Amino acid sequence: MNILIIEDEHKTASYLRAGLTEAGYVVDHADNGIDGLHMARESQYDLILLDVMLPEMDGWTVMEKLGSRQQTPVLFLSARGTLEDRLRGLGLGADEYLVKPFSFAELLARIRIILRRGQTERPVETLEIGDLQVDIAKRRVIRGGQRLNLTNKEFSLLMCFIQRRDEVLPRSLLASLVWDMNFDSDTNVVDVAVRRLRQKIDDPFPTRLIHTVHGVGYRFEHEP
Ligand code: CA
Repeated sequence: MNILIIEDEHKTASYLRAGLTEAGYVVDHADNGIDGLHMARESQYDLILLDVMLPEMDGWTVMEKLGSRQQTPVLFLSARGTLEDRLRGLGLGADEYLVKPFSFAELLARIRIILRRGQTERPVETLEIGDLQVDIAKRRVIRGGQRLNLTNKEFSLLMCFIQRRDEVLPRSLLASLVWDMNFDSDTNVVDVAVRRLRQKIDDPFPTRLIHTVHGVGYRFEHEP
């Protein structure tokens, strides 16, 4: 289980890191909101511990930017303990709001509850397209028996392709579905991301899944 701590107070962060590592979790740490947001988007975590008062970008904004589409549970850790603060955190979609100072035993108990809840609520579903297997709940992608590590964006892009397999997908549609982006801005983002995804899921294997449709976009198709 991977946990991301976004916390600017180094003493608290190292205390959390030591305790959680001892409890068997793999821990990453960011000491400001911008780095934390970036790490949360680029890697797959099972839980995020998010401080509210952070340099660069506060915890509220990090949570807003992560958006409702992200599935990783978030536990706010904050010195701000008014009812209004708690409601704001939970209203943004956090799973838990713990006020500092808290006991480590309590934090650990809440983390275990959240992680257990996540496991039972998430549907266990594996998609198979030819030799490609995607475990949606665990965000795990395997092709030809080989585990592939995708970033969150690459995974979203792959899911987009799989859900609309055999259809021609214009770049503009991919841009709006995966990046919430209006197309005219930058078409290159889509091509670069597709190229990266191909390097992982297509290049090492004998058959292609992502096909270029010239002048339009891409099509995901498994031809046996
Ligand atoms: Ca802080």
